[in-house]
Amino acid sequence: MITINGSQGEGGGQILRTSLALALVTGQPFRMERIRARRQRPGLLNQHLTAVEAAKTMGCAEVAGPALGSLTLEFSSGPVTPGNYRFAVGTAGSATLVLQTVLPALLTSPGPSTLTLEGGTHNPLAPPFDFLARSFMPLIHRMGPSVELELKRPGFFPAGGGRFHARVQPVQKLSRLDLTERGAIRGRHATVLVSKLPGHVAERELTVLREELKWRPEEYGVDAVAHPLGPGNAVMLGVETEHVTAVFTGFGERGRPAEEVARSATDALKAWLTAGVPVDEHLADQLLIPLVLAGGGSFRTTKPSLHTTTNAEAIQRFVPASILFEQEAELVWRITGGPK
Ligand code: ATP
Repeated sequence: MITINGSQGEGGGQILRTSLALALVTGQPFRMERIRARRQRPGLLNQHLTAVEAAKTMGCAEVAGPALGSLTLEFSSGPVTPGNYRFAVGTAGSATLVLQTVLPALLTSPGPSTLTLEGGTHNPLAPPFDFLARSFMPLIHRMGPSVELELKRPGFFPAGGGRFHARVQPVQKLSRLDLTERGAIRGRHATVLVSKLPGHVAERELTVLREELKWRPEEYGVDAVAHPLGPGNAVMLGVETEHVTAVFTGFGERGRPAEEVARSATDALKAWLTAGVPVDEHLADQLLIPLVLAGGGSFRTTKPSLHTTTNAEAIQRFVPASILFEQEAELVWRITGGPK
């Protein structure tokens, strides 16, 4: 049994999700202590409990300790059964992070799967649906499997109620991914997603985007949620290049000025453009698991976040892999994964 200290490094939910994901893939049982110890509300929240439940169901796993606020968990998985599943967070907690937990095992499972996931789809501090659909999944596709995502309804904090489908067509073995160049920019689009908010929110965000980006008028759009359950807002900037599509997001929150929401997205985009690398900060931590499961690969990225270094450590507890970080220039790092 692998024992993991959930407070190490970044000390949040990602160590748990990575452990669940790799316990499903490798069949190795683990015990986690001090779960999310570095968070204001430590222990398992609804989103994490749903991830545990999803992993348990798909791996027919034996689990000890899953309850709201639990600081310890034991998880022992059987072989993963592909099929049709529905998992609902039950609150506005992130449903995309539930997908992040079970997806790695499904990519090489013995048959196709269809998942319906419910909860938040555009939550701060989680991959928004559009990031998964436009940036992350096309790279997974390049490694062999096909994952088709379909958004039925966006869900925001606090009302939730979002829903999407993921249809996974697996392969026997993932192919290696090397993503070292970005290539020329081929397309770009700014989307202001609004749900049940006064019109001036989108207008103020568009004003900042036009000032900061100076893109062509047709490259901006407003997407108003039909039949909204509650308020919500995200500003998403997508840039398609020859080798990768990057998506940068600013999340609206109660009390956060619209200008700041838009500027957080443009700042992230500008940092990526200045570094000249293909892989942004968030894509970097999320690519590590597929890279290692493929048996190797590499990418160039911006300064690794604490999420990325913590994830690399957690992965290496389950898989005999080495993940190397090399700084190549002031703003450029190369991350290489391979067998130990
Ligand atoms: P907690 O740490 O409170 O448990 P959590 O379970 O929501 O929170 P984290 O450990 O913070 O999760 O992990 C968040 C994940 O969401 C990381 O993989 C990170 O890359 C991803 N993420 C955060 N913001 C974005 C964004 N703007 N675009 C894409 N991915 C993002």
